[in-house]
Amino acid sequence: MLFRDVSEFLKEIEETTSRLDMTAKLAELYNKLSPTEAKELSYLLLGKLAPDYYGVELGIGMKLLFEALSMATGWEVEDVEKLYEKMGEVGELSQYLITKKKQSSLASRDLAVKDVYDALFKISSTSGQGSVMTKIKYAAELFNNSSPLEARYIARMLVNKLRAGIGEPTIMDALSWSKTGTKEDRELIERAYNISSDIGEVAKAFLEGKDLSKEFTIEVLRPIRPALAERLNSAEAIFAKLGKCAVEYKYDGFRMQVHKKGDLVSIFSRRLERMEGMFPDLVDSIKEMPYKDIVLEGEALAVNKKEGTFFSFQETMHRRRKYGIDEASEKWPLHLYAFDVMYVDGDALIDRPFKERRKVLESFLPFSNNIKLSHMEIAHNASDIKRVFDDALSKKLEGIMAKNLEAPYKAGKRGFSWIKLKKSYGKSVDTIDGVVVGYYRGSGARAKFGFGGLLVAVYDSERDEFQTIAKVGSGFTEEEMVRLRDMLSEIAIKKPDKRLNTVVEADVWVEPRYVVEVMFDEITKSKQHTAGNIDGQGYALRFPRFLKLRDDRDIYSITTVNEVLEMFAAQSSKK
Ligand code: ATP
Repeated sequence: MLFRDVSEFLKEIEETTSRLDMTAKLAELYNKLSPTEAKELSYLLLGKLAPDYYGVELGIGMKLLFEALSMATGWEVEDVEKLYEKMGEVGELSQYLITKKKQSSLASRDLAVKDVYDALFKISSTSGQGSVMTKIKYAAELFNNSSPLEARYIARMLVNKLRAGIGEPTIMDALSWSKTGTKEDRELIERAYNISSDIGEVAKAFLEGKDLSKEFTIEVLRPIRPALAERLNSAEAIFAKLGKCAVEYKYDGFRMQVHKKGDLVSIFSRRLERMEGMFPDLVDSIKEMPYKDIVLEGEALAVNKKEGTFFSFQETMHRRRKYGIDEASEKWPLHLYAFDVMYVDGDALIDRPFKERRKVLESFLPFSNNIKLSHMEIAHNASDIKRVFDDALSKKLEGIMAKNLEAPYKAGKRGFSWIKLKKSYGKSVDTIDGVVVGYYRGSGARAKFGFGGLLVAVYDSERDEFQTIAKVGSGFTEEEMVRLRDMLSEIAIKKPDKRLNTVVEADVWVEPRYVVEVMFDEITKSKQHTAGNIDGQGYALRFPRFLKLRDDRDIYSITTVNEVLEMFAAQSSKK
């Protein structure tokens, strides 16, 4: 398919305001793409060139974009920059400049989707000496061959500001629609995505008509999307939900998904970025484990050898670094507490009950002095759960994780197979993780920072949309205000994102990208916010305060509306 035709679709998608229309348009587009084009375009729509664990990032800086536009159009770089200051958006800028070219290109040719993808790949992955000029040349060549409308979208992709309001869930719906006209195949598609973490490969295989359930099985060294926990506020509530269950300590460090294939070891973060380079001490032990192939999961904490205790979460975080790794491993040695296993030597375990997976884990762990088993006990009643909880707190841990003994490993899903209980729950202050969807410019003393607060939303996983829950106006240090303003102004959009359901306005809308932890006193009903809204009444946070940015979380694993409802119910029953 020609990129010119894709651009027409992108324009229509940009102009729709309804999520449903957008999905339908995207489905129509998928129907016209070849499977490989569908794969490449799926990545591009998400602002990527490949899944995150490949480690290739899409994008060049603005300066290079200006240079490339200048080279392609004959405009002086300074004039391009001036025009950008006036127009404020790279897509419109590029579209205009291509219309007003001061030089005509010699041989211009039609761009196919593959041409654009390949060029963006080359541009983003070129490094080293002379790479700046190479990037500019490739980008200029793209502009040389593009129509004004194509330039609009190519420019946005080049600086990674496409902001089409499309996330993985929309892509999965659109794929299903493209074949069935309904969401019928969404579950099948989602399962494949959860196992492979590769939306592009899933799109390709789906359009090739392959049987996704056979095509996508666990592949060692390719990450599985992590299972997530629900929360409940008491041991009684947990026992009522699960009955006899496993109760583990909840360790607070790095979540790690460990893959071993012979001597090759990959460690994936919770966001599925590769991080084995930071942990040579763990990698050495993992290599020696007694199976050829293993996929397991655990939480790694730094141990204070002198005192025989754990370092705090903040201290443990010192291990997340690019330099000085050897000294850091000396100073903050890590223990990995394994709590699940998904694969050993040809056996995929994720669909087996947790009690069986745990047995497998216990058959080869603890191993060496730094790979341990998570502490686990079987609870037969609520007081057993409470005892492990108190025991965990006495060891300065943050709480417990209760697990359904019969449940499979639910990749990529938040569910009651795992239930967390933390010491902070049910206290007079509690926290949620929300996504920032807009911000306020600030007045009075704040005017000088250009920042007055955040509009924050939670996720409704059934409707697959973000719903606002709070305007957060306090809890920021001056540095945080400046930093947030800078980060957020970079991702400003003209209209609210299509995935957002809101009745309140923001001064500046932003693409949902950053997750923040917000502390509050209580959950109240409110007409202002849409979280959990059924009959014009949503839920809102009372006295919300900013705590911190959570860059370990992606926007689809924030607090859900269901969790907010649970919290509200627990709070009401306490009263
Ligand atoms: P929180 O902010 O409450 O720590 P979270 O954002 O880390 O939660 P959740 O899905 O809510 O993510 O809780 C699961 C997390 O708890 C896992 O990501 C894992 O890192 C951590 N964890 C610690 N100990 C365990 C354990 N024994 N079993 C499972 N997960 C555990």
